[in-house]
Amino acid sequence: MTIAFGPHAIRHSQVFFSSALSYGLVNLKPIARGHVLVIPKRNVPRFTALTPAEVSDLFLSAQTIGRVVETQFQGQALTVAMQDGPAAGQTVPHVHIHVIPRRFGDWANNDDVYAELDQTKVDNEERKPRSEEEMAAEADFLRAFFPPLAAKDGQVSLTT
Ligand code: AMP
Repeated sequence: MTIAFGPHAIRHSQVFFSSALSYGLVNLKPIARGHVLVIPKRNVPRFTALTPAEVSDLFLSAQTIGRVVETQFQGQALTVAMQDGPAAGQTVPHVHIHVIPRRFGDWANNDDVYAELDQTKVDNEERKPRSEEEMAAEADFLRAFFPPLAAKDGQVSLTT
């Protein structure tokens, strides 16, 4: 079973959170430990296409997920970011919020985090896609902090 993240079919093993209208998934190429993505269930490229209910659900989900990843990955803060459209650096045409645990001194300059986000487009030794197993292990770990992923209101069941 998979869910859509733009053109990508994401295995349920990568999904750790499901609300009425959003998913939380682990990242193929995280720039920090606990860097995860929050996406609307509807596969649309731009933030402006979301309904008020989707915007609300997406940001409430990012808040809930942010609390957990900040604590569990020993963060002291969070970078919460959205690249909304290719000209802003978006590479996957499906609305997504990056939730990134931060610590004092993790980058030499605080805003280097945005340059680093840009680097995920490049495949090199430092930025290799993670294995399915590694991503599944992180999703398994995170899943324990959220309500069970079950069929709800006709949404895809993540328990199968
Ligand atoms: P952006 O450049 O803002 O569009 O961010 C795209 C994000 O999606 C990056 O953090 C990528 O590492 C991540 N990404 C790309 N493909 C996948 C995938 N198949 N599964 C999980 N994350 C992905």
